[in-house]
Amino acid sequence: MSAVVEPPADADLAVERPFCAWCGAARTVGDHAGCDRRLATVDPPRHCPLCARRMVVQVDPVGWTARCSRHGESAGANGFS
Ligand SMILES: [Zn+2]
Ligand SMILES: [Zn+2]
Repeated sequence: MSAVVEPPADADLAVERPFCAWCGAARTVGDHAGCDRRLATVDPPRHCPLCARRMVVQVDPVGWTARCSRHGESAGANGFS
């Protein structure tokens, strides 16, 4: 047993969230390392990672909420997690 949680493989991530939440392109196409870095630091997602629709994003001092017209609302404190 180990307490270390390994990050999911890219393939698993692509199945779970087929689209880049930052640029809206398919995660399997191109390099989204820069997008991931932005999402992990200060920027809220702009696109739904499930369908790539543009989301309605609201940012407030404690975090953000993003709403996909199809998949509903997601929220985060800092970065898309
Ligand atoms: Zn991207
Ligand atoms: Zn969606």
